[in-house]
Amino acid sequence: AKNSGKNQYQVYNEQTGNTELRKMELQKDMQWAIEAGQFYVVYQPKWNVQTNSLVGFEALLRWNHPRLGVVSPGEFIPIAEETGLIVSLTKWTLNEACRQCKKWKSRGCVNPISVNISIRLFQTDTLINFVKDVLEKTVLDPHLLELEITESMVFLDIDDIIRQLHAIRSLGVKVSMDDFGTGYSSIGLLDRIPIDSLKLDRLFTNDLETSSKRAIINAILLMASDLNLDVIAEGVESQEQIESLTQLGCNIMQGYYYSKPMKVEEIDPWIKSRVL
Ligand code: C2E
Ligand code: CA
Ligand code: CA
Ligand code: CA
Repeated sequence: AKNSGKNQYQVYNEQTGNTELRKMELQKDMQWAIEAGQFYVVYQPKWNVQTNSLVGFEALLRWNHPRLGVVSPGEFIPIAEETGLIVSLTKWTLNEACRQCKKWKSRGCVNPISVNISIRLFQTDTLINFVKDVLEKTVLDPHLLELEITESMVFLDIDDIIRQLHAIRSLGVKVSMDDFGTGYSSIGLLDRIPIDSLKLDRLFTNDLETSSKRAIINAILLMASDLNLDVIAEGVESQEQIESLTQLGCNIMQGYYYSKPMKVEEIDPWIKSRVL
């Protein structure tokens, strides 16, 4: 390789240097990026295999950085969490997703929209007010909004989170537990945390040939059914996966098999291609 003349230490340093610089650039530019209109939302469909119909969309954030191009949320969300910008970013995303959902509703499409909510939002105790404000401003039926939260919140003051979730659900807004099964297991909290559904992480929904994975999914599905929770399988990429999951009793799918997250204008053509 071209770098073979340099020793490992130098190469390593160069790489971390670049990563640090990139992070600093993102951190600095993010402050203006909302106002500059550089963020946009893409939508990934959720599909019910049993009824063969669309049952909702997940809103996923993208940042079109002027110099670096499209930056993924896996990279900029942690930075936004560190700087605190996650609060205004979430506000913006919620508003954008609800506005879009309202638009679809007025055209007769009654599928709910899910928005990812970082646990940081529960620490400031302002989430409930955001949600109320956005629903009022966009005049969206609260039942059409769902918040996706992650298991990692079990580290925070759980009683306080439960209180906030109850308040949010009392508005009619739904709550889903994202990436279920990957975190520090909140299974023990499932009967206390007020949620409506679970999203099975991609790690669980691939390689379903291994019997241990099937056993785990089976157990999760049984438990979810007892607790009256819907289960959504994430990261579904193949027909075989869909067959295994439906055999096990999971009927709601999300993944590249159906569609990658789409820009608004790509959705109509996609829907037309599905019903043909
Ligand atoms: P997530 O909530 O688990 O979202 C699912 C991720 O899996 C998305 O990545 C989606 O594009 C990807 N995905 C969907 N189907 C497939 C598939 O079949 N195969 C594979 N390999 N991947 C699939 P994305 O959009 O890059 O988002 C990454 C993470 O960033 C999200 O994971 C979520 O935790 C976070 N995120 C995205 N948007 C927001 C946001 O508005 N707010 C917050 N707080 N976090 C967000
Ligand atoms: Ca999610
Ligand atoms: Ca997930
Ligand atoms: Ca994830």
